[in-house]
Amino acid sequence: MTGFATTQVQAGFTAGSAAFGAVPPIHQTAAYEFSSLEEAADLFALRRAGIIYSRNASPTQQVLEERIAALEGGASAVAVASGQAAVAVTLLALAGRGGHIVAADQLYGGTVDLLHETFDDFGIPVTFVDQDDPDAWRAAITPQTRALFAETVANPIAQVLDIRLVADIAHDAGVPLVVDSTVGTPALIRPGEHGADFVVHSATKFLSGHGTSLGGVVVDLGTFDFGAEPDRWPQFTAPYTRFGDLILWERFGSGQAFAALAKSKYVHDLGPSLSPFNAWQILQGIETLDLRVARQSASALAIARHLAQHPAVARVHHPGLEGNPWHGLAQQYLPNGIPSVFSFDLAGPEQDAPGRIARIIDELQVFRLVANIGDARSLVAHPASMTHSHLTPAQRAAAGISLSTVRLSAGIEDPTDLIADLDRALAHA
Ligand SMILES: *Cc1c(COP(=O)(O)O)cnc(C)c1O
Repeated sequence: MTGFATTQVQAGFTAGSAAFGAVPPIHQTAAYEFSSLEEAADLFALRRAGIIYSRNASPTQQVLEERIAALEGGASAVAVASGQAAVAVTLLALAGRGGHIVAADQLYGGTVDLLHETFDDFGIPVTFVDQDDPDAWRAAITPQTRALFAETVANPIAQVLDIRLVADIAHDAGVPLVVDSTVGTPALIRPGEHGADFVVHSATKFLSGHGTSLGGVVVDLGTFDFGAEPDRWPQFTAPYTRFGDLILWERFGSGQAFAALAKSKYVHDLGPSLSPFNAWQILQGIETLDLRVARQSASALAIARHLAQHPAVARVHHPGLEGNPWHGLAQQYLPNGIPSVFSFDLAGPEQDAPGRIARIIDELQVFRLVANIGDARSLVAHPASMTHSHLTPAQRAAAGISLSTVRLSAGIEDPTDLIADLDRALAHA
């Protein structure tokens, strides 16, 4: 017989006991029990695969990682606390010490903040280029460059990246192409089929779809050979000092070494870990990803066509429309549908557009004023005062955003309700 206090902590449960739920369970535990000290030592030394502590992994998170890696056709994945953390961990791991990044001008506002200011504080220089200008990509690459970074379909103007072109430029320079495919989703585009080496997602958006949980993930497509130029990639090819003489590229190899580094160093040291509960929530969302995305893409295209005819609208930034500068790239890269995040510019003078947009937003009843995308609900935002408010006017212009720009994220509601809502609100412009 044990005492009351021991009983209240231990009765009725043995670590590792089996259950056969049909749905992946939430392993809401901070830490995992070892069968012996020898096993613990092996796990701590990376001699054996397994889970020590939820900062680095949980079985729920591993299901999520395997599922997203499979959807992208990748070799491995690392799930973290947010999309922002996924971008940060990926680029920190690739930049290593002394590395330089080349990134597109057309990026999500939070990523601009990260790369422009925080990476600068860390001493990691980032050069920004117009993603449509191949000469600008080439000219920005230096011997220190360790990654090229862009969004497959940019938020909020929906510029479509010529992935193959930028991947070739990256590979000619001996560096990987990393893409943020949050807006694209693997239901519409698999960047690995076009030459990208790493795919990052904010799982908060379409992968979840319910808008309840933050999460992020990076998928290693297993295509980049860090062993080809070992001097350039000491984080993979030189002894990993915290593990003695361990060399990640020799131990884990192509497709796995990056995840081992990201988890054992960047997630371990900085702590942007995904909670098991959020991993589980994102898994529930992924089960309906293609159904939601198909509905949302069809609704968004119908809305874009409607707005293109509307007298209160100056232009619609939707690459499914003929005449859009990225229409050709959309046909090439997005044959299964165009993402449902796009923008339009209100007609009339730009200086007083924010006031008129505020009145329109006040009139909307179905579209919700929310700083999110990819939700089941339809959402509206004014990037210049919200997601991209930290950008300078020059940075905003380079991203294609003006004070007149309104971003929409079409949800899964009835498209006729969405169009009627916009018509009614735009009557107040
Ligand atoms: C939202 C978003 C992010 C950041 O993701 P969080 O989950 O909010 O941290 C990164 N990239 C893109 C394209 C996004 O839309």
